[in-house]
Amino acid sequence: MHSQITTIVTIFITTGVLNLYLSLHVLIKRHHYTKIIYLFMVYTALIAVYCFSAGFGLLATSLVGVKVWTFFQYLGIAVTPPLGLLLVLQYLGYSVTKKVFVALLTIPSVTLFMVATNDLHHLHYKIFEFDAVLGKPYIYQEIGLWYSVHGAFIFASMLVAFFLLLFRWRETDKVYRPQLFALMGSQLLPMTMAFIYSLGLTPRGFDPVPAVLVISSSLFLWAIRSSSLFRNMPVAKDRIFNSINDGVVVLDNQHRLIEYNQACIQMFPELKKSMLGMRYQDIWDILISIPMPYTLDAVGTSQEVWLPETGRTYQVRLSALQQPNYQNGLVIIFNDITELKDLQLKLEHLAYFDELTQIYNRRAFFDKCMQLYAEAKEQNTPFTVMLMDIDFFKKVNDTYGHAVGDQVLAHVAQVCKSQLTDKELFARYGGEEFILALPNYSVVEAEKLANQIRQAVENTPLTVENTVVVTTISGGLAEATTDLEVTLSQLLNAADKALYKAKSKGRNCVYREQGIENEQ
Ligand code: GH3
Ligand code: MG
Ligand code: MG
Repeated sequence: MHSQITTIVTIFITTGVLNLYLSLHVLIKRHHYTKIIYLFMVYTALIAVYCFSAGFGLLATSLVGVKVWTFFQYLGIAVTPPLGLLLVLQYLGYSVTKKVFVALLTIPSVTLFMVATNDLHHLHYKIFEFDAVLGKPYIYQEIGLWYSVHGAFIFASMLVAFFLLLFRWRETDKVYRPQLFALMGSQLLPMTMAFIYSLGLTPRGFDPVPAVLVISSSLFLWAIRSSSLFRNMPVAKDRIFNSINDGVVVLDNQHRLIEYNQACIQMFPELKKSMLGMRYQDIWDILISIPMPYTLDAVGTSQEVWLPETGRTYQVRLSALQQPNYQNGLVIIFNDITELKDLQLKLEHLAYFDELTQIYNRRAFFDKCMQLYAEAKEQNTPFTVMLMDIDFFKKVNDTYGHAVGDQVLAHVAQVCKSQLTDKELFARYGGEEFILALPNYSVVEAEKLANQIRQAVENTPLTVENTVVVTTISGGLAEATTDLEVTLSQLLNAADKALYKAKSKGRNCVYREQGIENEQ
């Protein structure tokens, strides 16, 4: 009899030492692991307490001694199953709130209280005494009401943890499966043994669970060493899917919606799970007020799409779905490029617009004018340019100051613009000079418009600080004659000459160049 006790105690103490080692090992090397390690540390430390107490309980000679060690055993028996469940929940990436934590530790706390005070109420053990047949130190016990509650709870904790791990098996990469295997073993082995024990199928008189814990603890040790358990851990694929900032829509081979991620809900606020299985085209027509601007056959392409519902711009990419069940399926990715687009527009604006007058600058003028001029030449249509210069502008600056001069410049630009449509190209040419390109205008027609602008400027003075600043402009016009192959720069030179003439004629007038000399 004594040798049997010695063997059992040795196994219990060995398991205890192994768990103590695991607990201290992760404590010392905690910097190498993720935060989950603290839970694991407490978990294995409590298993160690459980195993040691089970061993010492068998060595106790008095019933009081056994009861004291039994209480310590319960620190492990009652608390480690829910801790194991918390460990598994954290490992699988579920967020464990304080509420869940407290809820899971409520029954174990009551159990500890029940065990400590059992002699007063006998709700946990109806009978707890030395076994009359086997003698000391074996215990004969009959379970009470609370024992059933506690038993059901710890059994359920381990069962839930085991199945959560099992359900994750298929989608877990092979590299991580040893970790999953070890965690599943750590739940399954004590659960099975506790079940067999509760059926009374194990040798009478002592709790056999610590004996199997030696195997589950070894599994932990193996997983920590071989597959870096608690150092690198798998992340659930659906977590990744839903964490992507880009909207991802998955369609089957008939272009019916089979999956979408969280980000899609921001893009299509009306998108609902009930739409799964509907044709993507129909969903689009319900959710979006513009026709679908891309075709679903264009796999491998990408396109910019502006959605009126959100006012945002997306780069939409279509890729083939790599899944045997859904050959010809599609993955559509929506990348929000609104900020990028805004920045692009801002940069374009900065590059193309004059800051002071908010009209096109010289560079924009040349870019656009060259295109217009090429078109005019191709279509053999008239094309006239006009250079404008504010008269006596130096005087404006000298009299009212540079700041008022700036305001006058901006004002003149707006007055000129008010006389134009988007068919005419108007820009600040430099300083207080403006330029106008007039496609489809003969010089005679252009002269009419030029005088209209000139009069508008003259008749719309600017009032600054109770002072009326009257300004006038002079203009020089030149038409590209179709019989001469005039370049744009020759045309501008001619307009410049005409402007010079207008100035010398007394200003506040328009002059048109009669003929252009072709130097080629
Ligand atoms: P004219 O009738 O012969 O054109 O006389 P003007 O005084 O306008 O002479 P000119 O065209 O040579 O002078 C242009 C002046 O415009 C010189 C410069 O100080 C001023 N100017 C150029 N750019 C700006 C600007 O951005 N703001 C202000 N306030 N003044 C400018
Ligand atoms: Mg000038
Ligand atoms: Mg001037």
